[in-house]
Amino acid sequence: MTHHLVVEGLCAGYGDLRVLHDVGLSVPAGSVVAIVGANGAGKSTLLSTIAGLIRPSAGRLTFRGSDITRARAEDLPALGLALVPEGGRLFPFMTVEENLQLGAYSRHARAGMAGRIREVTAAFPILTERRTQLAGKLSGGERQMCAIARALMCRPSLLLLDEPSVGLSPLMAETVLQVVAGLARDEGLTVVIVEQRVTEVLEIADEAHILDQGRIVRSGQARQFLADRSIQEAYMGL
Ligand code: ATP
Repeated sequence: MTHHLVVEGLCAGYGDLRVLHDVGLSVPAGSVVAIVGANGAGKSTLLSTIAGLIRPSAGRLTFRGSDITRARAEDLPALGLALVPEGGRLFPFMTVEENLQLGAYSRHARAGMAGRIREVTAAFPILTERRTQLAGKLSGGERQMCAIARALMCRPSLLLLDEPSVGLSPLMAETVLQVVAGLARDEGLTVVIVEQRVTEVLEIADEAHILDQGRIVRSGQARQFLADRSIQEAYMGL
């Protein structure tokens, strides 16, 4: 099996605070991999470290066969790795279209920008309707879709999603997760997704890892986790 992303022995944190301890996982090409765990477990730190925003103190990151452990965050989108941070971080006083244009900041991506905007908004019809609206006026769900669409502008092969359903209604959360599942299924996108909505994310994921105090404590098939009583009790509130 080809692995799109391989994380080995990863240690990272903030100053003297060590958050991630010897984290290892592999992400098969075209799969959706969920990272779940309690608040403060280190899920966002893991995504930020993969995306080059935090420099690991040990370990190795391999993306499509290349060592990216020391790559700079600003160089990764052009290599095909894009992060959608928690809350989306859109520019609220810019329109939806302007936010999407900002996603295509490499010279290569800028060349085909108009066509790419049409392609990415095809997956999110609501964004076509809202094209000229300020991003700050979008609903939570629309904002999340716009953030995902912006990340897709640079034609990534790997999307890192940090809690895309946070603050959304259950119905809107479901819609966003279904869109993510569709991107993997129909476009062959590889996705690593951090989610608090454990049941919902396990339903769209292929594989899952449980992060607990900065360590991976369980890894397996998402559907096995869904049926696992101890995981239901510990992480799914059942
Ligand atoms: P949540 O679901 O609450 O976002 P998480 O699993 O994503 O949690 P992280 O946000 O990665 O967890 O946080 C892990 C630990 O790192 C926590 O103890 C947190 O307080 C700490 N931390 C996170 N960001 C920073 C930062 N910028 N500076 C210092 N410590 C931080």
